[in-house]
Amino acid sequence: MNLTDDLLAFLDACPSPYHAVAAAREQLERTEFVRLDEGAPWKPQPEGRYVVERDGTLIAIQLGTANPAEQGFALIGAHTDSPNLRVKPHPQRDSCGYQLLNVEPYGGVLFHTWLDRDLSLAGRVVLRSADGIRSQLLHIREPLLRVPSLAIHLNRRVNEEGLQLNAQEHLSPLLGAQLPAVAQFKDWLNDWLPDARNAELLSWDLSLYDTEGARCIGSHGSLLSSARLDNLLSCFVALRALRNHEQSTPWSVGIALYDHEEVGSQSASGAKSHLLENTLLRLCGNNAENFQRAMSKSFLVSSDMAHALHPNYVAKHDPQHRPMLGGGPVLKTNHEQAYATEPLGAAHLRLLARDANVTLQDFVARSDMRCGSTIGPIVSSTLGVRTVDVGNPMLSMHSCRELAATDDVPQLLALFQQFFQRGPSV
Ligand code: ZN
Repeated sequence: MNLTDDLLAFLDACPSPYHAVAAAREQLERTEFVRLDEGAPWKPQPEGRYVVERDGTLIAIQLGTANPAEQGFALIGAHTDSPNLRVKPHPQRDSCGYQLLNVEPYGGVLFHTWLDRDLSLAGRVVLRSADGIRSQLLHIREPLLRVPSLAIHLNRRVNEEGLQLNAQEHLSPLLGAQLPAVAQFKDWLNDWLPDARNAELLSWDLSLYDTEGARCIGSHGSLLSSARLDNLLSCFVALRALRNHEQSTPWSVGIALYDHEEVGSQSASGAKSHLLENTLLRLCGNNAENFQRAMSKSFLVSSDMAHALHPNYVAKHDPQHRPMLGGGPVLKTNHEQAYATEPLGAAHLRLLARDANVTLQDFVARSDMRCGSTIGPIVSSTLGVRTVDVGNPMLSMHSCRELAATDDVPQLLALFQQFFQRGPSV
């Protein structure tokens, strides 16, 4: 399979952060990465390949031939989560005999994009059986749910006044027509948990997702149409760059794929946790002096999707900073530090791009608009590591179905591979 087909398969296989972590781990184990248990002692070896996992977050590091204190880490960061609708703990909701699922938004959801799509459920469930408590991935592939829109005949001024959707009132998906009352959501869910027959379903983190698969559309397949491009596209390319990094380098290379970016990163596995810091410290032999020396020589490329110029909303961009779909990866700058890019890091990245024959575009928000943020400023402020924020251009960000350019994917991969080959030194 080529790079695009692999990306499409990855997008479809990862309807939740837990699936993204499982898919990434599986790929890494095929290239001899070894999983480290946070609760066990570690004995890192030069050129060792290690994976650390915590819930929806995965860190993978390939140590260099030299001590990290001498050569630092070349790191790529991204996030595994995307805005969606999540199932509440008491999910059954009856409305005049219709069986609905009680859900709540996760992150900055574009509500209207979830209407009239054939949806299903994915995430993880926690079960108790005779063997004890275990967590299990769940990915129901059949379309089971639908959030129906209101007919225009019942909302005559919707096109003039805009669609108003209330998160509590208007986003509950329908389970079916004239169903007998669902006795228990847990019993219903058990149909999709065949090896859980004799287990008790205790809890879950389940997301709704669109069952329509990722695909290339447009002239010559030039557009990527999929859910979760923000930010599984970055996760996929970072992972591929790491797996392709086969030569020995004195510096260490690695990726950190975080959960919970879309809700502020403040969790035990999010970018505000100490997971990356502690992982790198332990890979520095738990020596604080070596760790601090390593951080001063390290570099983080924080990759998250960027706003391409929207052809129907041209005025939303600064005229001199209008990334185009298909124009190559985007370097993001914000002097109020919503992005961590600073001049030395930007210079390093521009030279890496030039040497890899990658065209780099620039994004700065309009001066009268606030821009979004990402993990770059969080990780750089925690670790003190020089960081740049980059990402491929896209449209429909945070839609249930997003849009990017097919040709920008190999460009981002070439940039990441160049970074790992040339190392963190500015
Ligand atoms: Zn993002």
